[in-house]
Amino acid sequence: MRMKVNDTCIGCGLCAVTCPDVFYMESGVAHAIDAEIDEANLDTAQDVLENCPVSAIEEV
Ligand code: SF4
Repeated sequence: MRMKVNDTCIGCGLCAVTCPDVFYMESGVAHAIDAEIDEANLDTAQDVLENCPVSAIEEV
């Protein structure tokens, strides 16, 4: 599974702090790595997707 951050991100930083192997901040907003999410990070990434305050994270 891959994830992406859409343009509704408000840059709160939650995803990058909680799941730094998958999400990072750049220019004030979050981005997801351009790669398959490895097994060890899947549950955390899914939690982040569900807890983003503006639902900016999508599965792709
Ligand atoms: S948790 Fe959501 S709003 Fe916050 S930085 Fe990540 S994608 Fe953006």
